[in-house]
Amino acid sequence: MTMLDDYIKKAERVLENKFGIKPERSRLVYHEDWTSFIKENGLSLYSESVFLPKDLTAHLPNDRLEKVLPLVFHELEGHGSYCEHNLQGKKLVEDEKIFSQLKGEEKLKFAYECSAYFQKIKPYFEGFAVWMEEFLLKGVGREDLWLERREKSKRMPLDAHHSYFDAYSILKEFEKEKGTYELWNTIGFHVNKALGGTK
Ligand SMILES: [Zn+2]
Repeated sequence: MTMLDDYIKKAERVLENKFGIKPERSRLVYHEDWTSFIKENGLSLYSESVFLPKDLTAHLPNDRLEKVLPLVFHELEGHGSYCEHNLQGKKLVEDEKIFSQLKGEEKLKFAYECSAYFQKIKPYFEGFAVWMEEFLLKGVGREDLWLERREKSKRMPLDAHHSYFDAYSILKEFEKEKGTYELWNTIGFHVNKALGGTK
C-alpha cells in the first residue's frame, strides 16, 4: 500500500499549504471483511466507508487503490478535518462524549436532539467531504478518479429529495461566487491565506 500512503501524504501537504490544517488525531482503520464490520456496527449495507466522530476513526474496506483513495479523502481528510477543525464538527465530537455519559430517559432525549442537529448540518458535512474529494484528487493528479466519484455522488441519497452531489453543488456555487477561503469560513472553519503554508 505504499502508493496509497504516498498519495495521502501528498494530499495532506496540499491541505497544509493552502489552509494550514490537516487531520491530526483522526486515523484510518482498514477492514479485511467489510460486510462483517458494517453488520456488527448496524451500518447501512450500502455504506462503502464511514467516519465515526466519537473516536475520530475513518473505516474503510481493504481494497484496491482506485477504490480506496477517494474514500480516504472523503472520510479522513473531509470528515476528519471537519470534526477536528470546524465549529459544527467539534460539536459532533463533544456531543458523542456527553451522550456516552448519559443514561435512560436523558440519553434518549439527547439522542433525539443530536439526530436533529446532525440532520441540520448534514448537507455541509457531506457536501464538504465531496468537495474535499474533488480538491484532493485533483491536487494529487487523479482527476480521473474524481470524474467517477462525481457521477457516483449523484446516485448517493442525502435525504428523500437530495443527493450528495446536490449538497456539493451548493458549496461549489458559493465558492465560485465568494472564493475558497470564504466557503471554508462560512461553513465553520477558521482559515485564511496567511494561515496556509505556515508549517
Ligand atoms: Zn460522508
